Amino acid sequence: MSEIVYVGLGSNLNAPEKQVSQALTALANLPNTGLVDSSSLYLSKPLGPQDQDDYINAVAKLSTELQPLELLDQLQKIENKQGRIRKEERWGARTLDLDLLLFGNRVIQNERLTVPHYDMRNRCFVLIPLSEISQHIELPDGSQLNTLIAKINQQGIQRL
Ligand code: ATP
Ligand code: CA
Ligand code: CA
Ligand code: CA
Repeated sequence: MSEIVYVGLGSNLNAPEKQVSQALTALANLPNTGLVDSSSLYLSKPLGPQDQDDYINAVAKLSTELQPLELLDQLQKIENKQGRIRKEERWGARTLDLDLLLFGNRVIQNERLTVPHYDMRNRCFVLIPLSEISQHIELPDGSQLNTLIAKINQQGIQRL
């Protein structure tokens, strides 16, 4: 059975726009997975440390037959291939970040994976690209994307 999955993409190092479009191609090429749709690119302010460049963000919609941890493995492989170096500092600059936002209607909580992404409700650079793809998304807890968007500050993000 295949599931609809949403992945958040972010980059602020080494030609971020290229990193994000290269990652979209890599997602389309994953085994047992198809790229259904992707948002425009967006420019957003960094979370955490402010001494880093702005981010390019996007959201991709996939249809996959992979299990959640298999998909996470694949996402991390793509990050590594595109030169992601894991540093001590949280939310520091990176060539590519791929976050699993939603996996069908599932709630997943284990050592490696929390789905829905624990902070997606508060992130304009996730919610706004997501709504560009699918306006009427409902989270597993019943909350509506439109309602979440109405609650967040939509400044600090620019559609490119
Ligand atoms: P944030 O999670 O706040 O967006 P980050 O993306 O910079 O920060 P990472 O360093 O990329 O954090 O990820 C740390 C760990 O988070 C990963 O090793 C992964 O196992 C775990 N993780 C938990 N839930 C998820 C998820 N939904 N998508 C991706 N990684 C996740
Ligand atoms: Ca494919
Ligand atoms: Ca992230
Ligand atoms: Ca991440």
